[in-house]
Amino acid sequence: MPSFDFDLFTIGAGSGGVRASRVAASYGARVAVAEERHLGGTCVNIGCIPKKLFSYAAHVHEELDDAQGFGWQIPPAQFHWPTLLANKDREIARLNGIYARLLENAGVQVLHQRATVIDAHTVACGDRHYRAKHILIATGARPVMPAIPGIEFAISSDDAFALPALPQRALVVGGGYIAVEFASIFQGLGVPTTLVYRGKQLLRQFDTELGVLLAEEMRKKGVQILLETDITALEKTTNHGLRAHLSSGQTLEADLALFATGRSPNTSGLGLEAAGVTLAADGAIPVNAWLQTQVPSIHALGDVTNRINLTPVATAEGMALARTLFRDQPTSMDYSNIPTAVFSHPNVATVGLSEQAARAQFAQVDIYKTGFRSLKHTLTENTARIFMKLVVDAQTDRVLGAHMIGPDAGETIQGIAIALKCGATKAQFDATIGIHPSAAEEFVTMREKSA
Ligand code: NDP
Repeated sequence: MPSFDFDLFTIGAGSGGVRASRVAASYGARVAVAEERHLGGTCVNIGCIPKKLFSYAAHVHEELDDAQGFGWQIPPAQFHWPTLLANKDREIARLNGIYARLLENAGVQVLHQRATVIDAHTVACGDRHYRAKHILIATGARPVMPAIPGIEFAISSDDAFALPALPQRALVVGGGYIAVEFASIFQGLGVPTTLVYRGKQLLRQFDTELGVLLAEEMRKKGVQILLETDITALEKTTNHGLRAHLSSGQTLEADLALFATGRSPNTSGLGLEAAGVTLAADGAIPVNAWLQTQVPSIHALGDVTNRINLTPVATAEGMALARTLFRDQPTSMDYSNIPTAVFSHPNVATVGLSEQAARAQFAQVDIYKTGFRSLKHTLTENTARIFMKLVVDAQTDRVLGAHMIGPDAGETIQGIAIALKCGATKAQFDATIGIHPSAAEEFVTMREKSA
């Protein structure tokens, strides 16, 4: 019988690694987790949480503008970036403490050092080697930037959470989640912002209409959006100033260039290949339905597997792994109907199939959609429009997808996601009584098929 120091050694204390570790420990496993940076990983420190706090800050601007229509006379408001930064840092430090206590209370040993894999059951951490029955790689992903001249003058989203000052003008590159979220944050905080994207429409992996309408709505809020445009080089003009050279031949001046051009799995230098784990071309760790790599005792989950890179997916995977390994309940993930929200301004949220994906898979698809100005904005100058769309399998009447652009879209779609998970039909949506007056009620009152 080989003797092990731990039943589970987790590398990476992000959302997935922490969930797997503490649930495994609660099932009686002896668990260690190694983390070289902050507890909580990307989501807590340089992702979801601080991003959402910044997004709230940016929304206040719009609320102040809307307030006048409701009779509020507010003197010109001043925004103080250092206050937001300090308050955000205080909240993140509080969350780091909660993560430390959760792990400690569960009996997980936390090693604040980088760890690497030596073989199927051995991990090196600091100056020690540990033997573990199971090893879990939950090291997440990091931003990737294109190798263009002057890229050293650009920042990634990792840096955007600690800017010493807000820029006078911002340039954001990319058309995915992070690009539209940060372009919205900068613009909302009063920084004139240009978004440059090489593709035809934003949020390419979503229903096509969402990307097109999001661009329209973001433009209304002041973001300048240049599509089918690449940045070919960046140069420094002054201490603060940058000049971006565009594929169109034009140039663009800014004080900050944020490249949100994708993320790559954190697998380099981990010793995985030497231990027998072959990586995919993009550096991701291939796993089977039980989150097991080619080496049966080495597991991986979350962004490092580069599949559905969302925090709640990583935590659900962590839970599934702990059950499989330490509770004798083999649990595989169901990746269908995972809802997601993009915290751009306006928010975008979606669950299930896009119209394009549904048409590719089903013989006959019915589309129901609506676009309208919210009741709230009827008393304001705000011209924002809300958009909702249902994708229905005409043969079975099952709702295959629900999509929304509008305030707090994620809050609405989270509820709709439960209905889709239960296999709800359009008739059941129609039989549901709406909440009046709300925007969300439109999801149960769409009767006309769109042509
Ligand atoms: P995405 O993959 O969503 O978007 C990357 C964008 O960068 C795409 O528009 C892509 O263009 C563009 N791009 C890639 N390479 C280049 C290049 N060389 N030059 C110019 N443009 C380029 O990645 P993000 O970094 O925005 O986010 C990473 C992941 O993190 C997301 O996919 C999501 O899973 C997760 N996330 C989730 C959030 C949420 O839940 N709200 C928030 C933030 C991130 P193209 O489309 O042409 O390939």
